[in-house]
Amino acid sequence: MLLILKTRLLSLVLPTVFPQHLVSCRLRRQKNALLAILSLAGLFTVSAAFAQPVALTNARIIDGTGAPVVFPGTLIMDQGRIVAVGASTDIQVPDGARIISLEGKTLMPGLINAHGHAGGVRGLETGHYSEENLLRQLALYASYGVTTVVSLGDDEEEGFQLRDNQNTADLDRARLFVAGPVLNPATVEQAVTLVDQTAALTPDYIKIRVDDNLGRSPKMPAEVYQAVSAQADVHRIPLSVHTFYQQDTKDLLRAGADHIAHSIRDSHVDEEFIGLMMERNICYTPTLTREVSTYIYESEPEFFSDAFFLAGVDAEVLTTLREPERQQRMAQNDAAQQYKAALPIAMTNLKLLSDAGVRIAMGTDSGPPARFQGYFEHLEMWMMQDAGMTPMQIIKSATADAAACMNLSDTGSLLPGKWADLLVLSEDPLENIRNSRSIEQVWIAGNQLRRPRF
Ligand SMILES: [Zn+2]
Repeated sequence: MLLILKTRLLSLVLPTVFPQHLVSCRLRRQKNALLAILSLAGLFTVSAAFAQPVALTNARIIDGTGAPVVFPGTLIMDQGRIVAVGASTDIQVPDGARIISLEGKTLMPGLINAHGHAGGVRGLETGHYSEENLLRQLALYASYGVTTVVSLGDDEEEGFQLRDNQNTADLDRARLFVAGPVLNPATVEQAVTLVDQTAALTPDYIKIRVDDNLGRSPKMPAEVYQAVSAQADVHRIPLSVHTFYQQDTKDLLRAGADHIAHSIRDSHVDEEFIGLMMERNICYTPTLTREVSTYIYESEPEFFSDAFFLAGVDAEVLTTLREPERQQRMAQNDAAQQYKAALPIAMTNLKLLSDAGVRIAMGTDSGPPARFQGYFEHLEMWMMQDAGMTPMQIIKSATADAAACMNLSDTGSLLPGKWADLLVLSEDPLENIRNSRSIEQVWIAGNQLRRPRF
């Protein structure tokens, strides 16, 4: 059995032990022996790239597509990918596979956050964008079972590099997809220039905001976002839009927007709006927890005593958010109170759109200060249930639909050929989506993550 360490860890450990130019066959054998010992000692995760196939058996399998549960089911992964999945009676476990029985447990795809942000915030402070901070946050997302994050804006070079280097069976953090800077052109000419410049970075999305922040700032004029949309089409890059008002969003859909990145919060969606969404099968990302974050710290939120939340949060951040003056400022902030009033509208709209057949891509807008990466994706799903969606609809929206909506073809469902990004839960999320918190295992590209138990 050949056990190999993760490439990144290798590069940290090996230069001192085996300088590159001295590595002979004999040394390589010694190196492998050393790595085997370290791996067996549980110091590092074993890379899927060289490990044996793994068979997860006896599981209740939710594949993410909305298909009925398979039970008892077996999933085989090898070289980082799912190679077979189905009823245990139909799946042959390959010789030499490592077999893990998941009796009584649920197997489902890793969660996809269709609207997050990564890399910039440390504690409650912005301005910390770096590879190290990105990796820290992508590990945090992953530990909560969020195995893919679509960052819709404020992405810099390090984020693009991580995006480019994640198609490997060595991966041990959440996948990252990026939009680059949020574009804010003032004129049609600027719109064209900015889209061209951003397209050169090869983003997965182009992102704009069409919002007046509740009447407090100027809104991007229609001819400018129309130019952004047309130029994004030239480069064949989908356009994701931050909006607030129903009328703007209709106008943006007519201008060719490809993804609605927030809830409509000023009014209940009407037939015309639903028609425009359905016409091009456009996806809608509610970000209900974004609304929560705008007012919830006016007092101490209930989740501050939730162990599942506390496992992923910095104590200093909690101390700051508990400061009475800070809470008072939020309680007296007009915008906070307006967003609070808008939340029930957003929740009703989610149910109306879901019932109408509009594709919902779960997303939170987590990442900015006090929008907690990892925990907020669970809170979002719980709120989606409170809004009236069924657990199966919510899981689909947080896995296969989120992937399809964000053009991610390699992940999002437990189907052969996809990356083996998956979760093992001890409780059945179909009974109550709040059981999403019962995560026992997270696998990314066939690698089981070492993570704290919540
Ligand atoms: Zn955002």
